[in-house]
Amino acid sequence: MKKHTVSIILIIVVLLCNFLSAEEGMYPLSEIHKLDLQAKGLEIELSELYNPDGISLIDGICNVSGCSGSFVSEKGLILTNHHCVYRAIKNASTVENDFLENGFFAQNLSEEFPAKGYTVRITESYRDVSDEVLNVINKNMTLAERTKAIEKKIKEIITQVEAENPGKRASVSEMFIGKTYVLFIYNYLKDVRLVYAPPRSIGNFGGETDNWMWPRHTGDFSIMRAYVAPDSSPAGFSPENIPYTPKKVIKVAPEGVNEEDFVFILGYPGRTYRHRTSHFLDYEYNVRMQFVAELYEWQINAMEEISAENRDIELKHLSKIKGRSNTMKNYRGKLLGIRRMNLIDNKIEEEIKLQEFINSDTKREKEYGTVLDELNDIYKETKENSERSLILGYLRRSSNLLSYAYTLYEGAIELQKDDVERESAYMNRNIDMTKKRLSLTAKDFYAESDKILFKNMLERSANLPLHQRISVIDELLYGNDVSHSKLITNNSPHDPTDISPQGETKRGEYIEQIDAFIENAYSKSQLAGEEYLLELFGKTPDEIRAIDDPFIQFAIELYPLYQEQKEIGKTRKGALDQLYSKLIDVKKEFMGSEFVPDANGTLRLTYGNIRGYSPRDAVYSYPITTLDGVVEKTTSEFPFDSPERLLKLHKHKKFGRFGHPKLGSVPVGILYNMDTTGGNSGSAVLNAKGELVGINFDRAYEATINDFAWSEDYSRSIAVDIRYVLWVLDIYSDADYLLEEMGVN
Ligand code: ASP
Repeated sequence: MKKHTVSIILIIVVLLCNFLSAEEGMYPLSEIHKLDLQAKGLEIELSELYNPDGISLIDGICNVSGCSGSFVSEKGLILTNHHCVYRAIKNASTVENDFLENGFFAQNLSEEFPAKGYTVRITESYRDVSDEVLNVINKNMTLAERTKAIEKKIKEIITQVEAENPGKRASVSEMFIGKTYVLFIYNYLKDVRLVYAPPRSIGNFGGETDNWMWPRHTGDFSIMRAYVAPDSSPAGFSPENIPYTPKKVIKVAPEGVNEEDFVFILGYPGRTYRHRTSHFLDYEYNVRMQFVAELYEWQINAMEEISAENRDIELKHLSKIKGRSNTMKNYRGKLLGIRRMNLIDNKIEEEIKLQEFINSDTKREKEYGTVLDELNDIYKETKENSERSLILGYLRRSSNLLSYAYTLYEGAIELQKDDVERESAYMNRNIDMTKKRLSLTAKDFYAESDKILFKNMLERSANLPLHQRISVIDELLYGNDVSHSKLITNNSPHDPTDISPQGETKRGEYIEQIDAFIENAYSKSQLAGEEYLLELFGKTPDEIRAIDDPFIQFAIELYPLYQEQKEIGKTRKGALDQLYSKLIDVKKEFMGSEFVPDANGTLRLTYGNIRGYSPRDAVYSYPITTLDGVVEKTTSEFPFDSPERLLKLHKHKKFGRFGHPKLGSVPVGILYNMDTTGGNSGSAVLNAKGELVGINFDRAYEATINDFAWSEDYSRSIAVDIRYVLWVLDIYSDADYLLEEMGVN
């Protein structure tokens, strides 16, 4: 073959690969101009997508309390996911007015209800502040001091920026660990209301069985509206407020997309950990995720059992159950993915190659020679006492009463400090939100389940191996009881590994002590009362100490332990910062290329194509599902119980203009190879012209692994097709005015 023929073939292959395959990447705004998106399929100018000096698509994209969303009308209408709005719908639901079950549709502005605790952020600008942040550290600092100095500097920057920009929200995000920091300024809206939510049997069709799965048939969308004060400034809820006018409205494209079409997402992916080492992954795989998945499974079962027969009680537990179920299944997917992809071994191999590269140059070896070993030592140490620290961490999260008590005591101490020295939750800028959280969770408090979950954590603590005992818990449970001394073995109440009859007896007595402690604590504590709780928030440490409440006294006992844990965390972070900062440098040298930072809740772009995949041998999944599939999956049983009206409309082929000409039905779900993670929920999926064709809400089971690694074979994300959204609004719900408002006439 002639030389130039070979080159032409090579060029075609490269171009084709470029054209056909998406790449790993959640690109920060600063990196977008480096991508040749037009070559991949984008049909608009890059400046229409992102323009720091003018209006562009990013002005129509928002963060909705940790999820993503997009503005689709001049009057602040936001499209996001049903599961993102779930908490708000649930909080407004009662047995009589069960919006969660039946859906909600405000016929006009006055019927919309406040989504309490929800906020909306829109990225306004960003600036690299790495030098400013890193300037505050010096060589004489201990590792913990280093971390604290950086944290304090970040708080100072935020406080100053917010003072200079009233109504805005600032945040400094660590991009590359210990290396780069970017200040983001957000427009910050605090009056957000619910406009439309489909019934549960559409919005959460398939429930947990279908969660993290493809093919998917869930209408996971809802509509909110953002409001501002009459003078257009951001403000908390008030009946006088007016709808917010976004700088940019994202155009909705009722024609949708087809297989292989170019698509992109602008959204707020939460966290990925792709630049971490094999030992981090080993800890996640062998310890943390297994622990959490097992604990959550236990807690979910307990809460489901308690709430099975009573909707009122069930409503109090649904958010917790949904959140934990989502995490549990996600972790199980990741555990499977790590195994299947041999991720730990692959990482180890990469690290061996990197180490060889480091050692191949004396100067490099001197600078980076021990980085990997040192990093791995930190994770090894984390693993050593992991059971104890995991139990301590989840102890507080498992009981509302303990968590309230701890917040009150910690808050009392923190509020004595200067604003920038405080833990973030108690800074002046966050106090309202912290109180709001207390009051919202107090509404869901249910003593029976709180007791059961708390007791289980104490029992788990009682079963810790001797060298990991939580002495405060042991001592507290026994107090001055004479049986205490009787039970002490090697400075511990009992030896859980002692299977002798004496050992069993000791264990039995210990459990009795736990029961007694719990009965007393729950009958005495007043912390479940919302008003009382808020009254105590802001009291001085002495005032809190003087309160005769068993949970407060327990929290006071635990406080030094949690402080010790926090200090250990800061020391570790100090060490990791220095080491990862070096690792990134040498990795760049090794790979001879730049790479993008892990996701960290800041605005990112990812792009790709509507594309199927092969999850298992001999199985191929097509990337578009339809209403036919909803009907096919429908049984009369939860969670596959479609509404009668939907079935009837389908039967009579009432597809309106939303039917797919070739598929002969309304498209419901779309699948694509874009790089997403949690937080991307609610993100607008945009076509080549930058118009909205879907709302991202999930990933395929195999793609839960995205948080650790990306794979063109497995990494597939899922959106609800805009045609289904519009069909549900228009044909199913007769919500014409919403379509009109979105410009879909
Ligand atoms: N459904 C997911 C979540 O809310 C979205 C994702 O992680 O891809 O966590």
